[in-house]
Amino acid sequence: MAILVVGSVAFDSLETPSGKRERVLGGAATHFALAASFFTKVRVVGVVGEDFLPQHEAVLTNKGIDTTGIERAPGKSFHWTGSYVKDMNAAETLATDLNVFAAFEPKIPESYLDSEYLFLANIDPVLQARVRAQMPDVKMVAGDTMNYWIAAHRENLLKVLKELDVLLINDGEAKMLSGESNGLRAANGVRALGPKALIVKHGEYGATAYTSGRPFRAPAMPLHDVVDPTGAGDSFAGGFYGYIASQPELTPEVFRRAMFYGSVMGSLAVEKFGTERIQATTRKEIDERFEHLREISHL
Ligand code: AMP
Repeated sequence: MAILVVGSVAFDSLETPSGKRERVLGGAATHFALAASFFTKVRVVGVVGEDFLPQHEAVLTNKGIDTTGIERAPGKSFHWTGSYVKDMNAAETLATDLNVFAAFEPKIPESYLDSEYLFLANIDPVLQARVRAQMPDVKMVAGDTMNYWIAAHRENLLKVLKELDVLLINDGEAKMLSGESNGLRAANGVRALGPKALIVKHGEYGATAYTSGRPFRAPAMPLHDVVDPTGAGDSFAGGFYGYIASQPELTPEVFRRAMFYGSVMGSLAVEKFGTERIQATTRKEIDERFEHLREISHL
């Protein structure tokens, strides 16, 4: 089974209480693809500029990720500048330079067309919709977004939400999208906008799934050292969706286990800057964390 992901492939300049990093490899599609690659085949659609070098691409291809759909354009790659100095659970955006993404026309390579799973990672909802339209036969569509798009591109985003089987967003985004300040009301408000299921991420406090049944809460892994929260959400999504794609059928049990794998991948992502920690992990370490998370949360 293969997941096609469209989203930002970027360079991030980051500041956290642990320090600063300039222009490290990042982007929603990058973090998602790396996390999902431990579970299933991943294919990326996106665009990069002339500053994206073979060593950056190798971070993806070393994990078996298919980069045929990453287009090269004249100019600079997407660049995001963010800070977690005030709040480790909520990124403060200092600058968003879309650069080559501003004029991007996504084209799906022929070899990607048989992908069964589609992930619309964080990027302009117009681009998400275009990719969705080119993949009419996928088995499942999941997606993400953020305050940047909710605030200024709401109408376009609302069209994408109607297409989603699962939407993954954080507490602040759920409140912003729904206009509700209470968590449960916000979740119901967002589900009324279209997504069949909603996963709300609570940073260090875990994540809650709202489906047609009862809500389900997966804890976050208690960690000693949180160095850089960037990519936690995308890594959660990669673990969650990668695990689902690796299973023969989506049962409620598989959905719940997928939430735990999401938590595990999110916990790994934050232990070092950028993609460093996920690049260094193994499936064995992932499964050990999964067991640990299960033990600490079972009656
Ligand atoms: P998260 O997993 O939610 O921490 O997402 C982190 C990634 O989102 C970073 O690597 C950024 O490059 C990327 N990002 C930040 N702002 C945007 C945006 N407006 N659109 C798309 N990607 C973004």
